[in-house]
Amino acid sequence: MGSKSGAPKTVAIIGAGLGGLSAAISLAAAGYQVRIFEKNKRVGGKLNVMKREGFTFDMGPSILTLPEVFRNLFRRAGKDFDGLVSIRALDTHWRCFFEDHASIDLTASTDEQKRIFAQLDPELPKRFERFLAYSREQYEIVEKPYLRDGVDTFWGMMRGIGLKRLPHVDGLRSMSATIDHFFEDQHIRDIFRFFVKYIGSSADKAPGFINLLSWVQYGFGLWYVDGGMYAVAEGMTRVLDEMGVEIRCDTEVVSLEREKADCVKGVRLADGMAIDADVVVSNMEVIPAYERLLHLDLQALKPLRRFEPTCSGLIVHLGVDRMYEQLAHHNFLFSTNQTKHFAAVFDKHELPEDPTLYLVAPARTDGAVAPAGHDNLKILPHIPYLSERSTFDEQDYMRLKERVLDKCERMGLTDLRKHIVFEHCWTPYNVRDRYYSNGGSIYGVVTDLRKNYALKAPKRSRICGNLYFVGGSVNPGGGMPMVVLSGMQTADLVRKEHAHD
Ligand SMILES: Cc1cc2nc3c(=O)[nH]c(=O)nc-3n(C[C@H](O)[C@H](O)[C@H](O)COP(=O)(O)OP(=O)(O)OC[C@H]3O[C@@H](n4cnc5c(N)ncnc54)[C@H](O)[C@@H]3O)c2cc1C
Repeated sequence: MGSKSGAPKTVAIIGAGLGGLSAAISLAAAGYQVRIFEKNKRVGGKLNVMKREGFTFDMGPSILTLPEVFRNLFRRAGKDFDGLVSIRALDTHWRCFFEDHASIDLTASTDEQKRIFAQLDPELPKRFERFLAYSREQYEIVEKPYLRDGVDTFWGMMRGIGLKRLPHVDGLRSMSATIDHFFEDQHIRDIFRFFVKYIGSSADKAPGFINLLSWVQYGFGLWYVDGGMYAVAEGMTRVLDEMGVEIRCDTEVVSLEREKADCVKGVRLADGMAIDADVVVSNMEVIPAYERLLHLDLQALKPLRRFEPTCSGLIVHLGVDRMYEQLAHHNFLFSTNQTKHFAAVFDKHELPEDPTLYLVAPARTDGAVAPAGHDNLKILPHIPYLSERSTFDEQDYMRLKERVLDKCERMGLTDLRKHIVFEHCWTPYNVRDRYYSNGGSIYGVVTDLRKNYALKAPKRSRICGNLYFVGGSVNPGGGMPMVVLSGMQTADLVRKEHAHD
């Protein structure tokens, strides 16, 4: 291992999820010789696509937030994100449906939002205004240390926030507790609590400052990627192609090769080939990488227990031979008892009786994703990750799927079952086996006030000094913009610690 003096340092990246692609762009732009090894046939990781029978389904993410993060990444390579990926802002952010037939829209325009809220309760616009100002303040306090500087420790976070602003951090109570303080209406409480969906956690357990997610959406917009979200992965791949970075798909890394106990010298591939590298960046999550690639035992993994996985999901894709006109692009069919839903998924590790459903109907915005007159629906209830406490079998998941379809039919998608012409369903087992995520987690590490105070695993391994991580299991956490930030921040750390000779 080791580059000859003056030669570019070599980096092996395990996995071509958004975190890995982001690190690759940043490191290649800084002059490192980068190679990416991806176990699947396609790049993108959880940002994935399925085209069947005239329907195009986004398998993973369907909401793009904070596009500026992507612009900044592309700028590192001298590329124009908007020239390569076409995105558009949605005017209706979410349409929220409730079992009592109420329906409430969240909109891009805060004036329009206030008008909608005023029809529900004349006091609500003022409450909303106050909540949004608070949410923005939380974002602005946390943004620099957490999103820009990429701190990895509690004390680093405290220092980054600074003494003056520290008393303003909503860090001692849960998201839900703060929301209850601002709003009295249960539907409105449920809506703002469910912004926690962006990080696959429980609003009853995430710290209050995570309410910044409301400002992320109202302040910076909610975006659709023309042609489907996968165009983002294609845009990133194009940048890497033009930089001459080699991406080897269908190539699994089966172990990390160590030089000494505290230093890796490269990776070994499934075909037995050893690849030397000065630095290894793993887009495989921290705990699975330690278990499977470094073969660490449970005792060594004990300190990592606080980095518990986020929820997983039952991911149902339906092609239907009619359009449900009442749907917006992004819809939420709320549980009658959101507290019970969170408790089932995050405390009891049970399949929820009445989960909140996220339902995407992208044909509202993009006619190319379904045949004319058809709807292309993705329905996603959050459910527990796989663990010794939640070992459900296929039948358990299929029973949940029937409850999900019942709920959809009950809440206005009349005769949904009769209109299904294409159906596809993924359980947490599929998510785990396809991406090697920890327990089939869909966002990486959970955000929990008591367990980790919203901090994820550090980006540099505490075990091997030249092993780094990117993606949802490290800071700043899960979601498309966050994992792209993690790739950029890890690359900056590598540059600081492994500069060319
Ligand atoms: C159903 C669903 C809906 C979502 N909705 C949204 C949303 O609307 N908005 C949003 O922002 N986010 C959303 N997310 C979350 C978002 O998709 C993820 O946070 C993000 O894409 C994860 O990127 P990553 O780089 O952390 O990891 P991944 O995408 O998991 O990438 C890791 C890559 O590493 C590869 N790999 C692992 N081990 C190995 C190995 N040993 N050898 C070679 N390759 C390996 C995997 O195959 C994978 O390609 C959603 C996720 C899911 C699943």
